[in-house]
Amino acid sequence: MSRRRQIYEGKAKVLFEGPEPGTLVQYFKDDASAFNDRKKGTITGKGVLNNRISEFIMSRLGELGIQTHFVRRLNMREQLVRQVEIVPLEVVVRNVASGSFATRFGLDEGTLLPRSIIEYYYKNDALDDPMVSEEHVTAFGWATAPELDEIMATALRVNDFLSGLFLGIGIKLVDLTLEFGRLWDNDEMRLVVADEISPDNCRLWDIKTGEKMDKDRFRQDLGQVEEAYQEVARRLGILPEGGPADVKAPKTVQ
Ligand code: C5P
Repeated sequence: MSRRRQIYEGKAKVLFEGPEPGTLVQYFKDDASAFNDRKKGTITGKGVLNNRISEFIMSRLGELGIQTHFVRRLNMREQLVRQVEIVPLEVVVRNVASGSFATRFGLDEGTLLPRSIIEYYYKNDALDDPMVSEEHVTAFGWATAPELDEIMATALRVNDFLSGLFLGIGIKLVDLTLEFGRLWDNDEMRLVVADEISPDNCRLWDIKTGEKMDKDRFRQDLGQVEEAYQEVARRLGILPEGGPADVKAPKTVQ
């Protein structure tokens, strides 16, 4: 039995109290869900891969001076993160029409957008995460206008950086979802990138074949879901030592 206190259990991750005040342990599950939990399943090894992929991306962002909640990876399925106050928004940056955006605007999937477009969704499962405008965000007090300016600027920076990073390994970044959190240092508040950045919340297409390498394979029953996540990790050069065999040996949650 673990003496750790569970703080929160989400669809794909569990948060435990961390070893020091102000820290949490973020545990990555293999559970997959889509359409606000109406479709559920397991992607074997996903937690291990997303832990690695998110560690890699958050570390690269940190090197650029983009602050994140990530501290360090602890083991195959866990990472230490700073405890933050989550801004209740999903910040989606889109480069290419896909998913709900293509449907909403009657665009063919794959249509290149005239520029990167940012959208905000209010994080609320009971309401199905409705899309909201800046007016809603500031009027309801989810974030202030200056916070939103910073969120937008950071989201575009992350999108530009990751577009280049993925382009270098033959992958097109179609869209991505970011979450932000508030972190206090004495009286000073900073906004940092929180949650995870992985094929669960990015759309990634192979540049040559157009093949999907993200959670859409699960959403759309395209098959080879594990293989797609593994291929993203492999191209990033971060498949766990020992290769896929390791990935398929998940560590049990204590
Ligand atoms: O489905 P939609 O086109 O709105 O998704 C936009 C982006 O947000 C995709 O990268 C998708 O993986 C991600 N997403 C997410 N969490 C959700 C819904 C979508 O991370 N609840």
